[in-house]
Amino acid sequence: MDTEQGSDLELYALECYGCGRVGTLELFGMGWNRRCPDCGSGEVHAVRVEPGDVILIQPGDYYAVKDEPRRAVVDGSHFALNFDDGRGPVVLAVLAASAFRGDGGGRSNRVTEPADEKVSVSGGPCPFVPIAELRYAGQTDQTFWRWADRPRAGGGENYTRSVHLWRWEPGR
Ligand SMILES: [Zn+2]
Repeated sequence: MDTEQGSDLELYALECYGCGRVGTLELFGMGWNRRCPDCGSGEVHAVRVEPGDVILIQPGDYYAVKDEPRRAVVDGSHFALNFDDGRGPVVLAVLAASAFRGDGGGRSNRVTEPADEKVSVSGGPCPFVPIAELRYAGQTDQTFWRWADRPRAGGGENYTRSVHLWRWEPGR
């Protein structure tokens, strides 16, 4: 279920890099006492966008989004690119996405195993969205596909996992 917009989470979202738990300062604690209550890890940092996350695009903010908000999935092959056009790093957000995600298990370990090597999204259209214009909006379920055993014709299977949900606020 999607987290309500405008909650404290949006302002103080932290994430455990050990188990993926997301919460507020109150959940994880302050300073030296900061720990994940679920797994005990001290690797708790601000939530950051990553491949496979979902970006919600509002009508009027992109030509292909007209009557109601649409979901786009962040691609891993075009991630945190910088075109030196003043917008800062951008991600490729794919509408009508079919998203390959090879891990399928727990959250990516971004230190040793970047998720961008495993998430490949096809579909379109695909706006480049500045990371600075993303606002964290909770967690959402997204369907991905992976190889059931090995790459072969008809060998894909779908599965669903929880990912970060972001609102795109162009120019803000
Ligand atoms: Zn944890």
